[in-house]
Amino acid sequence: MFDELDIATKAREFIKLCGPPALPVSVQAYAAQIGGTVVEEALGENEDAWSFRDTGGKYRICVNCAQNPRRRRFSVCHEVAHVALGIEADHSTPSWSYARRPPGEIACDVFAAELLLPYQLFKPRVDSADIGLASIGELADEFDASLLSTGSRFATFSRELCAFVVSEGGKIRYSARSAGLRQAKGWIRPGSSLPSDSYSARVRAGERPSSPEEAEPDQWFEDWERDGVLIEDTRHLGPWDQTLTLLWFDEEELAPPSERKHWDEDAYRLRELDGVLPWPGRNKRK
Ligand SMILES: [Zn+2]
Repeated sequence: MFDELDIATKAREFIKLCGPPALPVSVQAYAAQIGGTVVEEALGENEDAWSFRDTGGKYRICVNCAQNPRRRRFSVCHEVAHVALGIEADHSTPSWSYARRPPGEIACDVFAAELLLPYQLFKPRVDSADIGLASIGELADEFDASLLSTGSRFATFSRELCAFVVSEGGKIRYSARSAGLRQAKGWIRPGSSLPSDSYSARVRAGERPSSPEEAEPDQWFEDWERDGVLIEDTRHLGPWDQTLTLLWFDEEELAPPSERKHWDEDAYRLRELDGVLPWPGRNKRK
Protein backbone atom coordinates (compact mmCIF):
# COMPACT_ATOMS: atom_id res chain seq x y z
CA MET A 1 0.00 0.00 0.00
CA PHE A 2 1.00 3.59 -0.51
CA ASP A 3 1.02 6.27 2.13
CA GLU A 4 -1.26 9.01 0.89
CA LEU A 5 0.32 11.76 2.96
CA ASP A 6 3.66 10.78 1.50
CA ILE A 7 2.22 10.93 -2.02
CA ALA A 8 0.71 14.38 -1.41
CA THR A 9 4.02 15.61 -0.04
CA LYS A 10 5.85 14.32 -3.09
CA ALA A 11 3.35 16.05 -5.36
CA ARG A 12 3.92 19.36 -3.56
CA GLU A 13 7.67 18.98 -3.96
CA PHE A 14 7.18 18.19 -7.63
CA ILE A 15 5.07 21.34 -8.11
CA LYS A 16 7.87 23.45 -6.60
CA LEU A 17 10.27 22.15 -9.27
CA CYS A 18 7.95 23.41 -12.01
CA GLY A 19 8.42 27.10 -11.30
CA PRO A 20 6.09 29.73 -9.89
CA PRO A 21 2.49 28.54 -9.72
CA ALA A 22 -0.03 30.06 -12.12
CA LEU A 23 -3.73 29.54 -12.64
CA PRO A 24 -4.91 27.42 -14.22
CA VAL A 25 -1.86 25.21 -13.77
CA SER A 26 -0.05 24.19 -16.94
CA VAL A 27 -0.21 20.42 -17.34
CA GLN A 28 2.28 20.78 -20.20
CA ALA A 29 4.79 22.23 -17.72
CA TYR A 30 4.25 19.18 -15.50
CA ALA A 31 4.80 16.89 -18.48
CA ALA A 32 7.94 18.81 -19.46
CA GLN A 33 9.28 18.37 -15.93
CA ILE A 34 9.46 14.60 -16.50
CA GLY A 35 10.79 15.08 -20.05
CA GLY A 36 7.45 14.33 -21.60
CA THR A 37 5.18 15.72 -24.27
CA VAL A 38 1.41 15.43 -24.56
CA VAL A 39 -0.24 13.95 -27.64
CA GLU A 40 -3.98 13.73 -28.22
CA GLU A 41 -5.13 10.49 -29.76
CA ALA A 42 -8.22 8.44 -30.42
CA LEU A 43 -8.18 5.76 -27.72
CA GLY A 44 -10.66 3.14 -26.56
CA GLU A 45 -13.96 4.41 -25.22
CA ASN A 46 -13.17 3.96 -21.53
CA GLU A 47 -9.47 4.66 -21.83
CA ASP A 48 -8.15 7.92 -20.38
CA ALA A 49 -4.48 7.93 -21.34
CA TRP A 50 -1.31 5.92 -21.60
CA SER A 51 2.34 6.82 -21.97
CA PHE A 52 5.55 5.29 -23.20
CA ARG A 53 9.20 6.17 -23.52
CA ASP A 54 10.21 6.67 -27.13
CA THR A 55 13.54 5.65 -28.65
CA GLY A 56 15.05 9.03 -27.72
CA GLY A 57 14.16 8.39 -24.06
CA LYS A 58 11.38 10.98 -24.00
CA TYR A 59 7.97 10.22 -22.52
CA ARG A 60 5.01 10.52 -24.81
CA ILE A 61 1.77 11.01 -22.92
CA CYS A 62 -1.17 10.02 -25.10
CA VAL A 63 -4.54 11.29 -23.90
CA ASN A 64 -7.93 10.34 -25.27
CA CYS A 65 -9.10 13.19 -27.52
CA ALA A 66 -12.70 12.01 -27.04
CA GLN A 67 -12.67 12.89 -23.32
CA ASN A 68 -13.61 16.40 -22.23
CA PRO A 69 -10.71 18.87 -21.84
CA ARG A 70 -10.84 18.97 -18.04
CA ARG A 71 -10.70 15.23 -17.81
CA ARG A 72 -7.77 15.24 -20.22
CA ARG A 73 -5.91 17.65 -17.93
CA PHE A 74 -6.43 15.27 -15.02
CA SER A 75 -5.25 12.36 -17.20
CA VAL A 76 -2.02 14.16 -18.10
CA CYS A 77 -1.35 14.73 -14.39
CA HIS A 78 -2.10 11.06 -13.71
CA GLU A 79 0.43 9.95 -16.34
CA VAL A 80 3.02 12.36 -14.95
CA ALA A 81 2.41 10.74 -11.57
CA HIS A 82 3.32 7.30 -12.91
CA VAL A 83 6.74 8.60 -13.93
CA ALA A 84 7.33 10.88 -10.93
CA LEU A 85 6.40 8.15 -8.46
CA GLY A 86 7.94 5.29 -10.45
CA ILE A 87 4.68 3.34 -10.37
CA GLU A 88 3.97 1.00 -13.24
CA ALA A 89 0.63 1.65 -14.95
CA ASP A 90 -2.14 -0.90 -14.51
CA HIS A 91 -4.98 0.38 -16.66
CA SER A 92 -6.69 -2.97 -17.10
CA THR A 93 -9.55 -1.91 -14.81
CA PRO A 94 -11.43 1.18 -16.00
CA SER A 95 -10.94 4.30 -13.92
CA TRP A 96 -14.63 4.55 -13.00
CA SER A 97 -14.50 1.17 -11.29
CA TYR A 98 -13.28 2.58 -8.03
CA ALA A 99 -13.85 -0.58 -5.99
CA ARG A 100 -11.43 -2.57 -8.09
CA ARG A 101 -8.89 0.16 -8.71
CA PRO A 102 -5.31 -1.00 -8.02
CA PRO A 103 -3.51 0.85 -5.19
CA GLY A 104 -0.86 2.20 -7.56
CA GLU A 105 -3.56 3.80 -9.69
CA ILE A 106 -5.19 5.38 -6.65
CA ALA A 107 -1.80 6.74 -5.60
CA CYS A 108 -1.41 8.34 -9.04
CA ASP A 109 -4.88 9.88 -8.72
CA VAL A 110 -3.89 11.40 -5.38
CA PHE A 111 -0.77 12.87 -6.95
CA ALA A 112 -2.76 14.11 -9.97
CA ALA A 113 -5.37 15.88 -7.81
CA GLU A 114 -2.56 17.71 -5.99
CA LEU A 115 -1.06 18.79 -9.30
CA LEU A 116 -4.32 20.02 -10.78
CA LEU A 117 -5.67 21.73 -7.66
CA PRO A 118 -2.49 22.63 -5.76
CA TYR A 119 -3.07 23.01 -2.04
CA GLN A 120 -1.11 26.25 -1.89
CA LEU A 121 -3.42 27.90 -4.43
CA PHE A 122 -6.64 26.06 -3.68
CA LYS A 123 -6.91 26.12 0.10
CA PRO A 124 -6.96 29.95 0.46
CA ARG A 125 -9.76 30.12 -2.12
CA VAL A 126 -11.77 27.49 -0.27
CA ASP A 127 -11.36 29.49 2.93
CA SER A 128 -12.58 32.71 1.35
CA ALA A 129 -15.38 31.21 -0.79
CA ASP A 130 -19.05 31.21 0.13
CA ILE A 131 -20.07 27.64 0.66
CA GLY A 132 -22.24 26.19 -2.12
CA LEU A 133 -22.07 24.59 -5.54
CA ALA A 134 -21.94 27.99 -7.23
CA SER A 135 -18.56 28.66 -5.60
CA ILE A 136 -17.35 25.20 -6.54
CA GLY A 137 -18.35 25.88 -10.15
CA GLU A 138 -16.36 29.13 -10.14
CA LEU A 139 -13.34 27.40 -8.65
CA ALA A 140 -13.61 24.60 -11.23
CA ASP A 141 -13.52 27.25 -13.97
CA GLU A 142 -10.61 29.03 -12.36
CA PHE A 143 -8.57 25.83 -11.98
CA ASP A 144 -9.86 24.32 -15.25
CA ALA A 145 -10.75 21.14 -13.38
CA SER A 146 -13.90 19.02 -13.27
CA LEU A 147 -16.74 19.82 -10.87
CA LEU A 148 -16.16 16.40 -9.41
CA SER A 149 -12.49 16.88 -8.53
CA THR A 150 -13.05 20.46 -7.40
CA GLY A 151 -16.05 19.59 -5.23
CA SER A 152 -14.24 16.71 -3.60
CA ARG A 153 -11.27 18.83 -2.68
CA PHE A 154 -13.48 21.74 -1.63
CA ALA A 155 -15.24 19.57 0.96
CA THR A 156 -11.99 17.96 2.08
CA PHE A 157 -10.36 21.32 2.80
CA SER A 158 -13.45 23.11 4.08
CA ARG A 159 -13.47 24.48 7.61
CA GLU A 160 -17.20 23.78 7.84
CA LEU A 161 -18.97 20.52 8.64
CA CYS A 162 -19.37 19.71 5.00
CA ALA A 163 -19.62 16.81 2.53
CA PHE A 164 -19.54 16.54 -1.23
CA VAL A 165 -21.55 13.53 -2.38
CA VAL A 166 -21.42 11.93 -5.82
CA SER A 167 -24.29 9.66 -6.84
CA GLU A 168 -24.88 7.70 -10.00
CA GLY A 169 -28.18 6.21 -11.07
CA GLY A 170 -29.66 7.58 -7.84
CA LYS A 171 -27.19 5.64 -5.66
CA ILE A 172 -24.50 7.28 -3.57
CA ARG A 173 -21.13 6.35 -5.00
CA TYR A 174 -18.85 8.18 -2.61
CA SER A 175 -18.48 11.26 -0.51
CA ALA A 176 -15.65 13.58 0.47
CA ARG A 177 -15.94 14.99 3.96
CA SER A 178 -14.29 17.86 5.78
CA ALA A 179 -12.09 17.22 8.79
CA GLY A 180 -14.80 18.68 11.02
CA LEU A 181 -17.48 16.38 9.68
CA ARG A 182 -15.26 13.30 10.00
CA GLN A 183 -14.51 14.27 13.55
CA ALA A 184 -18.23 14.63 14.20
CA LYS A 185 -18.66 11.10 12.77
CA GLY A 186 -20.90 12.23 9.95
CA TRP A 187 -20.84 9.09 7.82
CA ILE A 188 -22.64 8.71 4.50
CA ARG A 189 -22.99 5.11 3.40
CA PRO A 190 -21.86 4.41 -0.16
CA GLY A 191 -24.29 2.31 -2.16
CA SER A 192 -27.39 3.68 -0.47
CA SER A 193 -30.06 5.48 -2.47
CA LEU A 194 -30.43 9.25 -2.45
CA PRO A 195 -32.85 10.04 0.39
CA SER A 196 -36.35 10.04 -1.09
CA ASP A 197 -37.86 13.54 -1.29
CA SER A 198 -34.44 15.08 -0.76
CA TYR A 199 -33.63 18.09 -2.91
CA SER A 200 -31.06 15.94 -4.75
CA ALA A 201 -33.59 13.18 -5.49
CA ARG A 202 -36.14 15.72 -6.74
CA VAL A 203 -33.63 17.45 -9.01
CA ARG A 204 -32.60 14.05 -10.37
CA ALA A 205 -36.27 13.40 -11.11
CA GLY A 206 -36.43 16.56 -13.20
CA GLU A 207 -37.11 19.46 -10.82
CA ARG A 208 -35.18 22.60 -11.69
CA PRO A 209 -32.39 23.30 -9.22
CA SER A 210 -32.82 26.64 -7.46
CA SER A 211 -31.27 27.77 -4.19
CA PRO A 212 -29.92 25.53 -1.41
CA GLU A 213 -32.55 23.98 0.85
CA GLU A 214 -32.73 22.75 4.39
CA ALA A 215 -32.28 18.97 4.63
CA GLU A 216 -32.87 16.21 7.18
CA PRO A 217 -29.51 15.25 8.73
CA ASP A 218 -30.63 11.75 9.71
CA GLN A 219 -31.62 10.98 6.13
CA TRP A 220 -28.06 11.58 4.98
CA PHE A 221 -25.88 10.60 7.93
CA GLU A 222 -25.89 7.27 9.68
CA ASP A 223 -26.70 7.34 13.38
CA TRP A 224 -26.68 11.11 13.43
CA GLU A 225 -27.75 12.54 16.76
CA ARG A 226 -26.35 16.02 16.81
CA ASP A 227 -28.23 19.27 16.49
CA GLY A 228 -27.70 21.76 13.74
CA VAL A 229 -29.33 22.93 10.55
CA LEU A 230 -28.23 20.98 7.49
CA ILE A 231 -28.22 22.72 4.10
CA GLU A 232 -28.27 20.89 0.77
CA ASP A 233 -27.27 22.14 -2.66
CA THR A 234 -27.41 19.95 -5.76
CA ARG A 235 -26.85 19.64 -9.52
CA HIS A 236 -27.78 16.78 -11.79
CA LEU A 237 -25.63 15.88 -14.80
CA GLY A 238 -28.19 14.21 -17.04
CA PRO A 239 -26.01 12.47 -19.64
CA TRP A 240 -24.26 10.43 -16.94
CA ASP A 241 -27.20 10.28 -14.53
CA GLN A 242 -24.77 11.71 -12.01
CA THR A 243 -26.00 13.79 -9.08
CA LEU A 244 -23.64 16.09 -7.18
CA THR A 245 -24.69 17.16 -3.70
CA LEU A 246 -23.05 19.54 -1.27
CA LEU A 247 -24.18 19.26 2.35
CA TRP A 248 -23.14 21.56 5.16
CA PHE A 249 -24.22 22.54 8.61
CA ASP A 250 -25.21 26.10 9.19
CA GLU A 251 -23.76 27.74 12.28
CA GLU A 252 -22.56 24.44 13.67
CA GLU A 253 -19.74 24.62 16.12
CA LEU A 254 -16.84 22.28 15.61
CA ALA A 255 -16.05 19.94 18.45
CA PRO A 256 -13.18 21.10 20.67
CA PRO A 257 -9.87 20.23 19.00
CA SER A 258 -8.11 19.25 22.24
CA GLU A 259 -7.37 15.58 21.62
CA ARG A 260 -6.91 15.87 17.90
CA LYS A 261 -3.90 14.49 16.15
CA HIS A 262 -2.23 16.59 13.53
CA TRP A 263 -3.37 14.07 10.94
CA ASP A 264 -6.54 12.15 11.52
CA GLU A 265 -5.03 8.81 10.64
CA ASP A 266 -8.17 6.73 11.05
CA ALA A 267 -9.95 8.90 8.56
CA TYR A 268 -7.02 8.89 6.23
CA ARG A 269 -8.56 6.58 3.72
CA LEU A 270 -8.96 7.67 0.17
CA ARG A 271 -12.44 7.15 -1.15
CA GLU A 272 -12.37 9.38 -4.15
CA LEU A 273 -11.76 8.50 -7.72
CA ASP A 274 -9.92 11.74 -8.23
CA GLY A 275 -7.81 11.44 -5.14
CA VAL A 276 -8.97 13.40 -2.18
CA LEU A 277 -7.07 13.86 0.99
CA PRO A 278 -8.46 14.70 4.35
CA TRP A 279 -6.60 17.69 5.59
CA PRO A 280 -6.05 19.30 8.95
CA GLY A 281 -8.08 22.49 8.86
CA ARG A 282 -8.09 24.99 11.65
CA ASN A 283 -8.04 22.14 14.13
CA LYS A 284 -4.31 21.89 13.80
CA ARG A 285 -4.03 25.18 15.64
CA LYS A 286 -3.99 25.01 19.38
ZN1 LIG B 1 -2.56 4.93 -14.28
